Amino acid sequence: MTFIHETGYETGGDGYDTRAGETEVNLGPVILRADSPVTFDDSSSGVGSAENLDQIASLVRNCTDCPLAGHRTNAVPGEGNPQAEVMFIGEGPGFQEDRQGRPFVGPAGKLLDGLLASIGTNRNDVFIANMVKCRPPDNRDPAPAEIAACTKYLDRQIELINPKLIVTLGRFAFGRYFPGEGITKARGNLREKDGRKIFPVLHPAAVLRREELRPTMIADFKAIAEILEGGTEDVNKEPALVEAEAPQPAQLSFGDSPRPAAVSAPPAETSTVNVEEATQPEQLSLF
Ligand code: URA
Ligand code: SF4
Repeated sequence: MTFIHETGYETGGDGYDTRAGETEVNLGPVILRADSPVTFDDSSSGVGSAENLDQIASLVRNCTDCPLAGHRTNAVPGEGNPQAEVMFIGEGPGFQEDRQGRPFVGPAGKLLDGLLASIGTNRNDVFIANMVKCRPPDNRDPAPAEIAACTKYLDRQIELINPKLIVTLGRFAFGRYFPGEGITKARGNLREKDGRKIFPVLHPAAVLRREELRPTMIADFKAIAEILEGGTEDVNKEPALVEAEAPQPAQLSFGDSPRPAAVSAPPAETSTVNVEEATQPEQLSLF
């Protein structure tokens, strides 16, 4: 199936719908018209001088800087701990996120909750945001011009939170830092860009579509915990070959002192992710 964007770019699909869930179809490769330039008015946003995350969130909720504004039910600014050590960046809101105004609350979010629980943390301790803050219609890929219009919000969120580690979920967030590289090769390897530590992993929705990717995702999350514990040098050079161990939930604390929970989110539903079932070593040689 071919999907026509209005923004004048051609992008390649990877076959994964990253906002999996209720009404989704896989749109496949995306062909975009080159004859309809888009201009955005972001002169009014002032986000660069926003002093806190709440200010950014209200700017996002009132934003009309790209065409996605016209499709949203709720904007999804992102949420979590303003002093998070680790920040997760997804692609964009899906159906449930658009309805609730919160990131990763659909099926992919349930998996993310379980993965966070598997390394002893939860969404109150981290910060979760997206590349675009409004849902692309029919869960299509966000267009480059939409990402460009929206990036100022994420830029400022990262500046204010100043996380020790940024975990990119899927190819769009990875492309923010390393454009043109493939996520399949890059995932699981700690990188540095402009003084920030970037750890690319697959998108949880890709894992929902391809169960065989689950052990890789679990191993990559285990590596996140190791990185945050200080093992940033040799961590996870060949993550797909790492022998899986039984996950050890709730052992890690990601800070020296307890951090205030900024957002009261429901507790992670670990029951939705059967991590033990998925950690069979023979399933790990995927790449
Ligand atoms: N997929 C994303 O990339 N972000 C969300 O918030 C939900 C699903
Ligand atoms: Fe504004 Fe971003 Fe929403 Fe576009 S996606 S309207 S730039 S908040």
